[in-house]
Amino acid sequence: MASPLPPTPVGVRVRVPAKINLALKVGPPHRDGFHPLATVYQAVSLYDEVHAAWANPEEFEVSVVGEGAELVPQDESNLAVRAAQLLARTHGPYDSLGVSLSIKKSIPVAGGLAGGSSNGAAALLACAVLWDIDISAEAMRALAAELGSDVPFALLGGTAVGRGRGEEVAPALARGTYQWVLAFGHHGLSTPAVYRRFDQLSPQPPPPEVPADLMNALRSGDAKMLGAALVNDLQPAAVDLQPRLKLVLEAGLEYGALGALVSGSGPTCAFLVDSESAAVDLSVALSADGICRAVRRATGPVVGARVIG
Ligand code: ATP
Repeated sequence: MASPLPPTPVGVRVRVPAKINLALKVGPPHRDGFHPLATVYQAVSLYDEVHAAWANPEEFEVSVVGEGAELVPQDESNLAVRAAQLLARTHGPYDSLGVSLSIKKSIPVAGGLAGGSSNGAAALLACAVLWDIDISAEAMRALAAELGSDVPFALLGGTAVGRGRGEEVAPALARGTYQWVLAFGHHGLSTPAVYRRFDQLSPQPPPPEVPADLMNALRSGDAKMLGAALVNDLQPAAVDLQPRLKLVLEAGLEYGALGALVSGSGPTCAFLVDSESAAVDLSVALSADGICRAVRRATGPVVGARVIG
């Protein structure tokens, strides 16, 4: 008698981390408006969850709960839905696949932490498992790059160097675990708006290079060195659009952070500290100040998108 087929899962849950950019160097825009980047990503322990369940063929639905859910589109413009549709189109048969996605957000929307991109990566992985699609890691990375700059890193996780538009990622040699405090802004920042202000403030930026001092700090696992090497070319533009961010960064440094920067296009501010107890102290101090909407502690690096059930 033939052995029974493995049961098709009724649902797949994937957990995916937020990213911070330890370095974000931005070059002059190409003709199509895109800026070449040299960036160092680190995945940190602040997670969204994406659950995928079978739906009728060609039905792609999404619902969102949690942090900033009301700001997330619940239609086909949601990056998780676009990811599912892209996978079905390219590795189908499209007309026999459908999915109902549920997203539980903890990563703030438009926070510079790649929340949308991480949901796209999680949906790719969840649907590939749900639909039992045989896809290589390389093909998955190519689909992720088609979806957006930060999506391939959300699959990979850890600490990695990103080039191009951020879609060419390679793991970086990094030692140690780092303690972060993340300060969320009251309002999000639109990534295109931040780049527009960057173009006004820096009309002729040099070609972007990954900073050698930052890579040395990661190789040696030296948090103090890393704190001093954190850099974000978009920070002046983000601070210009939300001047309050300057106060948040200054406050964190006054309270003893080893380094501080705006993550990506902001407005989340990331503070590196030297121990778990320093992270607790800084979180309490920033919360008591009331200058940011919320404060969270996180560690990095952590792994990228993973199936958890
Ligand atoms: P990045 O750091 O990659 O520039 P971000 O963290 O600043 O991105 P996101 O949270 O990814 O910003 O949200 C950017 C926009 O993407 C939101 O305003 C929202 O309209 C849209 N979006 C589409 N799908 C999602 C999703 N699943 N989760 C969050 N935002 C989404």
